Amino acid sequence: MARRYVIVGNGPAGVTAAETIRQHDAAGDIRIVGGEDAGFYSRPGLAYLLTGAIPEQRLFSRPDSGYERARVQRTVGTVREIEPRSHRVELVDGEVLRYDRLLLAVGARAVRPPLPGIDLQGVVTMDNLEDARRILRLVKRARRACVVGGGITAIELAEGMAAHGVETHYLMRGDRYWGSVLDPHESALVEQRLTEDGIRIHRGLELAGVIGRKGAVSAVETTDGGRLACDILAVAIGTQPRLELALQMGLATGRGIWTDPTFQTSDPDIFAAGDAAEVLDPATGKRGIDSLWSIAIEHGRVAGEQMCGGGQPYRRPAPFNVTKIGGVTTTLIGSVGSGGREADLVTLARGDSHAWREQLDGFVVVSDREANHLRLVLGADRIMGAVVMGDQALSRPLQHLIRERVDIRWVRDRLTQGPAEVRQALMSLVERTVSLGAA
Ligand SMILES: Cc1cc2nc3c(=O)[nH]c(=O)nc-3n(C[C@H](O)[C@H](O)[C@H](O)COP(=O)(O)OP(=O)(O)OC[C@H]3O[C@@H](n4cnc5c(N)ncnc54)[C@H](O)[C@@H]3O)c2cc1C
Repeated sequence: MARRYVIVGNGPAGVTAAETIRQHDAAGDIRIVGGEDAGFYSRPGLAYLLTGAIPEQRLFSRPDSGYERARVQRTVGTVREIEPRSHRVELVDGEVLRYDRLLLAVGARAVRPPLPGIDLQGVVTMDNLEDARRILRLVKRARRACVVGGGITAIELAEGMAAHGVETHYLMRGDRYWGSVLDPHESALVEQRLTEDGIRIHRGLELAGVIGRKGAVSAVETTDGGRLACDILAVAIGTQPRLELALQMGLATGRGIWTDPTFQTSDPDIFAAGDAAEVLDPATGKRGIDSLWSIAIEHGRVAGEQMCGGGQPYRRPAPFNVTKIGGVTTTLIGSVGSGGREADLVTLARGDSHAWREQLDGFVVVSDREANHLRLVLGADRIMGAVVMGDQALSRPLQHLIRERVDIRWVRDRLTQGPAEVRQALMSLVERTVSLGAA
């Protein structure tokens, strides 16, 4: 009999798993259940939708016919309950599905601080397309917005509001932007761009309460005893993996759903992947969560293979993200952080990785050319992390050098000789790596 696969979650982890399963099991019965009406779309693209840089259609990179081609049955609906003993999945509308192998690729949701007034109308987070549409409706009538939080999403929300002419105030708990990942110069570059876009930055200020009028937010209270009037409050203080289904089934969980490097959970027929999974890395013996599109795809690929009974276990790649932060195109790769806790985030944010905060014992080299900025963290024989801002010519080569742990010993001295030499030395490294690869 054909094996029955049920995948809960229609994001990159779930869709990639479904496609991978089909490549390995021509006869299997694959069903993907997703809570959103919209088909498969780019969540990182929501920031560009918010600023008006792209229309909504551009978020949909692949047509719905892709499901048909891969012979994957798609159901729009929400899973209410899973009964692992009888291998039964029940949807909110009462439909029941049976599985032999199940994947939980349910993602994460934005955390809301437990403050009075936090559920008032006009208090927004951005998890999905529906949220972005809601924000776009709100900005049409709003005059003032407050944004709290950190990482990439807070900035995306602030830029989104400002792009629609809304007077935007960004409340920062710390004294500079994303201090646990960026260095002071990098934070200053982003803050300068935000200010140029008319966003007012308030340092050392926290949200203390939300004040409403007729059910909608009208102001926020701040920890210095002040008040800021606003019609929108956007919150981006971190995300929390969706654990409800896993907890209800009694699966082992921590911050996320615990899996081994094959993405198997504590139930051998149930797998978890993407933002929801907290995966054991055998190299470090630690569990980690990433909230990155590319990593969710890699999880989905490996989990799909493993659900068919084969493939190699997961090896956590050096996480990377290429995105605009305050209008500055920025690539973050590997370990670049200061090791400190991020003042503006209670947990990991979207488009974020714990690895960026890791402070390894590395030598930092910086090459500055006005807005084009490059920072490398060098180990004894490899590059451990990089931040590339502005000019992105070195972004892809660096991703390769860091991921593949390319040996840098022969060029390390030149890399540490000073800013002028860094780019040239890197280019020689890239050229040699390419020619060795081609040989
Ligand atoms: C605004 C925003 C900006 C981002 N920016 C970046 C970026 O710059 N770079 C980057 O790399 N990443 C970014 N990300 C993160 C990236 O999108 C996620 O890491 C990725 O989408 C995770 O994929 P996933 O498949 O695990 O979960 P998701 O894409 O979150 O999909 C989970 C799906 O499961 C469904 N679901 C949940 N519970 C149920 C249920 N009970 N029944 C049925 N369906 C259910 C949800 O409806 C959802 O469709 C961003 C995300 C957002 C929201």
